[in-house]
Amino acid sequence: MKQTPQQALCRWFERNARDLPWRRLPTPYRVWVSEIMLQQTRVEAVRDKYVAFLKRFPTARALASAPIEQVLQAWSGLGYYRRARMLHAAARQVADGHGGRVPRDRAALLALPGIGRYTAGAILSIAFKQVEPIVDGNIERVFARMHHIAQPKQSTKVWKLAELWVREGAQQGLAPANLNQSLMELGATVCTPRNPRCYACPCAAKCAAFKAGSVARYPATALRKKKQRLRYLVLAVGDGAGRVLMQRRDQGDNSSVLPAGLWELPHAAWGEDQPQPRVGALSGNVEIVGEPVIVRHSIMDFDVQLAVQAAVVVGKVRGKWFTPQAAENAAIASATRKALVTYRRLSALQRGPTILPGPKRRHR
Ligand code: SF4
Repeated sequence: MKQTPQQALCRWFERNARDLPWRRLPTPYRVWVSEIMLQQTRVEAVRDKYVAFLKRFPTARALASAPIEQVLQAWSGLGYYRRARMLHAAARQVADGHGGRVPRDRAALLALPGIGRYTAGAILSIAFKQVEPIVDGNIERVFARMHHIAQPKQSTKVWKLAELWVREGAQQGLAPANLNQSLMELGATVCTPRNPRCYACPCAAKCAAFKAGSVARYPATALRKKKQRLRYLVLAVGDGAGRVLMQRRDQGDNSSVLPAGLWELPHAAWGEDQPQPRVGALSGNVEIVGEPVIVRHSIMDFDVQLAVQAAVVVGKVRGKWFTPQAAENAAIASATRKALVTYRRLSALQRGPTILPGPKRRHR
């Protein structure tokens, strides 16, 4: 008997699904955490972080009772820290208002911080086995090609197609979790943005773009907004005992594009043609060592250049001293991690086994 597209895709999924940690034991809490982590972040970057996070905070209650500092530390390296803050706030609401259980209805889920239509749909369909649609970037692309939709982001049609897909599939006795995940998996591994492997696609017979030979035209590529360039002078100040100075900017202090509330190296904006800026209250209390090294980092709409400058402490400074290892394990942004690693490598190159520079001897 001829298979429906849903049957063909679910069958393909059962044979080809990647073994991902969040697919084993998909409880509501575990699905929720994975979906938040996977927003704007690659699967490979999430895998290990997810396992470690779940080990540290195995339930919504455990997450709710942890201080935010610990949550940010466990999130370190994933970026977009707002997600971690919202997840933590939502876990507190789940603990206080839902007895520690992730709610199983859409309205209650959507009322939680950081949970939108997609995440709610993922939790409801994958963990609670409800007939709920989801649309992420992968599904958007698959439907754009299958149904010749040039601008899927602006189209309400994609959500309608996703609804129809899961409803029809459920009527055929297929699991909503598999119906939704198989679409996402197809987009992630076969119907990829570039060079889709149509020859291996179980839906090729139903795909309008494949049949018309127009796959490359769908979805239409949006003109990329040019990223704004920013440059910062970053001071890596050593204390002479192998430690580096870190500071924490208050929440709401938007003096830097790097996320506030995390540990960071002292830094200040440094325009291309401007003289070296003062960094907070450090000038006069530190001495510069050597030349800065440029580290590039991309954050949202910004291309950021960090001019990492080694320095040694010679006076009173505000902040906390970290060993290089502790600094890299603290709640820090990816840009700070890059700056620390660069500085550590540079110091090792210049000074042999000494990792951080000691204070300069003062001649009397
Ligand atoms: S046939 Fe090609 S373009 Fe169409 S859904 Fe499959 S992989 Fe995507």
